[in-house]
Amino acid sequence: MDRFLKQRMKMVDTQIRARGVTDERVLRVMEKIHRHLFVDEGLIDQAYNDNPLPIGDRQTISQPYIVALMTAALNLTGKEKVLEIGTGSGYQTAILAELAERVFSIERIASLAAGARKNLDFLNYFNVAIRVGDGTYGWREESPFDGIIITAGAPKVPRILLEQLAIGGRLIIPTGSRVSQELLRITRLSEDVNEIKTEAMCGCRFVDLIGDHGWNA
Ligand code: SAM
Repeated sequence: MDRFLKQRMKMVDTQIRARGVTDERVLRVMEKIHRHLFVDEGLIDQAYNDNPLPIGDRQTISQPYIVALMTAALNLTGKEKVLEIGTGSGYQTAILAELAERVFSIERIASLAAGARKNLDFLNYFNVAIRVGDGTYGWREESPFDGIIITAGAPKVPRILLEQLAIGGRLIIPTGSRVSQELLRITRLSEDVNEIKTEAMCGCRFVDLIGDHGWNA
């Protein structure tokens, strides 16, 4: 018996579908994945609330709507290779693992990466590789990626990540100050990394992307 099923369906209906996310694959996966398994025991009853939650080390699992919005913006069909920067709890990673062919995820905090790996193994997501390190460098050996998703706020778009994006690929990133950012979708249009299309999606507030091509710690 899944005692959170009702809460999960309600989360998708009232927080996500009602705010305009229409990608049925994303909605179905968010109805399916047990978000409560990705939060601390003591926060389990808040797992489906309309807000981010702490996951330790001053980091957060993002608000469900933002996870849905960012995922939908990737336009995944199931055949893609995706890079995620900021594994955190592994919740967003699990969603990507359902919707893409392979997922590569980088987390700078080793204990969070270990927790995420445990969660993803428990749920049998074997198409996910996780590495500990500064994700602002990307994962060059595995590039190009059809999608890149950065789940922490950056001062600007790291060029090194655009270089690892396939032509036609999409990169989702919050950029701005340390206090507030704008969520961007950037599509690479050609071999030339300067030829991109940038779409602003909404205002948002993320924890810092900390690294050589992000903020200082
Ligand atoms: N998507 C995650 C989830 O579903 O739980 C939430 C991610 S949390 C908002 C942002 C994460 O980015 C944090 O875990 C943080 O440690 C990580 N992070 C920040 N800077 C990073 C970097 N340079 N490389 C990799 N991870 C980074």
